[in-house]
Amino acid sequence: MGQCPSEFDLIERYFSLGVPSKWPSQGIGDDCAIISIGTSKIAVTTDTLAIGTHFLPDADPFTVGYKALAVNLSDLAAAAAVPRAFFLALSLDKADEAWIERFTAGLKKCAQQYGCALLGGDTTRTSFIGQERAPVTMTITAMGDVQEGLTRKGAKPGDDIWVSGTLGDAYAALMLRTGEWEGTCTQHLADRMDVPTPRVELGQFLQDYATACADVSDGFLQDLGHILKRSAVGAVVNVDACAASVDLRALGQQRCRQAQMAGGDDYELVWTAPVAARKAIEAFAKQIGITVSCVGTILSDTHLNLVDATGATVLNVYHGFDHFDQ
Ligand code: ADP
Ligand code: MG
Repeated sequence: MGQCPSEFDLIERYFSLGVPSKWPSQGIGDDCAIISIGTSKIAVTTDTLAIGTHFLPDADPFTVGYKALAVNLSDLAAAAAVPRAFFLALSLDKADEAWIERFTAGLKKCAQQYGCALLGGDTTRTSFIGQERAPVTMTITAMGDVQEGLTRKGAKPGDDIWVSGTLGDAYAALMLRTGEWEGTCTQHLADRMDVPTPRVELGQFLQDYATACADVSDGFLQDLGHILKRSAVGAVVNVDACAASVDLRALGQQRCRQAQMAGGDDYELVWTAPVAARKAIEAFAKQIGITVSCVGTILSDTHLNLVDATGATVLNVYHGFDHFDQ
């Protein structure tokens, strides 16, 4: 028996169909597909979320609705898109109106905030597993306008590697809430897990500066790894260079690094840009009031090297999220 394939092994092995596309995107592998319509282009993405897999079983349905759309808008942000519309396919275990009312209130809040209209969808019931219905799942397909659109391909040797916000907060919240880590989950960490902020404005700005971009959903090093692979380059990353929230730092260096490098659920952006873009990137981040950190450099060989603040080599023990791990 061979080793159990990872989520990404499966995707690469079975879903790269090789059927040619007449649109700018030639296949899978980016956060969004870029599609041309006449002289215009749009970016399209789809993400499925399930109660129990992506949300704790007792998650507030308001935050479930908000986050279900926000994570899709994060993929649009990674493509430098302006969100325009989304479709919602919902599988419910029961017709619980109180749950649906709060779910749609959260969904509406996010939709209004980012000007993204719900234009269609589907509603079904989940199947039985033994005597019980399977938990709720939701699939959102979101789309938006782009100029050219950013993808994970295009990082060049010598480019800086940047990341937005403070990584690791959502993972810390999960670890504290599930009791994996001792301590109390602060409101800040809880909010970072429950109501992520898709970096839509930043993504659009990066159209003119970034050479490649992805959103951080499955762990920073794993998502950076997708950029490296698609761009056929390597990198050196300083594991201590990313801004961390006060609440995360309070949990100690070991946990802070683990959460930041591998945690996931951040919905921040990771991108590469020429050194000449530094001033413009920093000025824009200041203007919109977000933190950005320059955490490394793209190299021409295809290895990923980790160092600490002193420049000493750090062993890469950081594994991002894989749905088929265990
Ligand atoms: P994201 O986290 O941005 O949603 P992933 O890293 O999970 O993207 O997926 C990697 C790439 O594989 C994406 O381009 C995604 O569209 C594609 N992909 C994942 N699952 C499938 C599938 N079942 N069929 C086709 N493409 C898929
Ligand atoms: Mg993504």
